[in-house]
Amino acid sequence: MQGSGACRTGLAAALVLVLALVSALWAQPGAAQGSLAAQARLLGDESAISASRTHLQVDLALSQPVPYRMRLLAAPPRLVVDLNTVDWGAGALAGSGNGIKAQRLGHLPDGWARMVLDLAAPYLPETAEQKVDPATGQARIALRFRRVTLEEFETSAQSESALVAQTGAALLHPDKGASAPAPARRPVVMLDPGHGGIDPGAERSGVREADLVLDFARILREVLLRRGVFDVALTREEDVFVSLDGRIRAARAARADLFVSLHADALPEGMASGTVVYTLGDEASDDSAAYLAERHDRADMLAGVDLAGNTDEIARVLMAVAWQDTAPRARALAEALVAGVGEAGLRLHRRPVQSGAFTVLRAVDMPSVLIELGFMSNPRDLAALRDPEWHSLMADALAAALEAWWQDDLALEGLRRQ
Ligand SMILES: [Zn+2]
Repeated sequence: MQGSGACRTGLAAALVLVLALVSALWAQPGAAQGSLAAQARLLGDESAISASRTHLQVDLALSQPVPYRMRLLAAPPRLVVDLNTVDWGAGALAGSGNGIKAQRLGHLPDGWARMVLDLAAPYLPETAEQKVDPATGQARIALRFRRVTLEEFETSAQSESALVAQTGAALLHPDKGASAPAPARRPVVMLDPGHGGIDPGAERSGVREADLVLDFARILREVLLRRGVFDVALTREEDVFVSLDGRIRAARAARADLFVSLHADALPEGMASGTVVYTLGDEASDDSAAYLAERHDRADMLAGVDLAGNTDEIARVLMAVAWQDTAPRARALAEALVAGVGEAGLRLHRRPVQSGAFTVLRAVDMPSVLIELGFMSNPRDLAALRDPEWHSLMADALAAALEAWWQDDLALEGLRRQ
């Protein structure tokens, strides 16, 4: 490892900290109180940008605290600050020094307010904080940056395409006004309702897993599309058999950014209950994971799909360089989903994050998880799995968790690309 490793790690931590600060502020009852009641205003007289040869300071005074996020974009160097939601008022902020070539203020289609600063030189963040004056309720966002080399900047700045994919291209280019943002490609979630056709999956009390997970996938798609962060594709839209390889191929064809397989299996011992999220592992984390992985492969064999050499393929794949990148992202995705389900008060398996040699999860370049929503072999789970209200709670929880993971994943992207 090079000597600069610690520094870069510190920077990544700082970027993540920015996102964390947003939620920490929001969690303070005093700070959040009343802040949704009226739109925040920029207090132009008390806001300023100042740049020197070594440092850049951005101070934004606001009539009340707001959630915010910031990104640095390379080629050319730009600082993007998004505030939710702020009235920019009269226009340009007062500035001093020659570190800023241009500033653009506007709004994103989803209501966030965006400020883009074209930087004359590369800077990276040192600190970012939002402080609230308890007497007036006014807030001040103070962002501090230090001058760095272009090389250092470019390894840490986010790619423009990632930001555009997430929030659109508004104001990122001087010649494109906020009024006509370029249509952005949203990240694509591939939802994979398990089983189907000749393979009904688990069956209990007249309910077939294949039907249940297809119904749930449609509900989750609806929720995700309504929330507007992701586009959604399904590996199957009806009761048909799709091979495990076919499901991965479908995800690639849709240029999916992540893959979520949905199941509600039964286990012979009838002991498992609650939601569990699996990632690909070379060894099963327990007997039931091994059983489930084997059982899901068996349907392919019955359908005449050749899985010969499958185990070798997984072993080979696990050594691949791409997997080093994808495995921690898939693990973080599984943890985010489990956290979301837990926060929604829905029941989790006693070991909610597990791994197994699931063929359907072996795309090395796409974070993939398999969710057992619950186990049909457990009476309490089966009742939940048949309850429309539970479907809606679960879909909301998973959608919010997918978005939270995507945010974190984007924030870490710069670090991963090194
Ligand atoms: Zn299944």
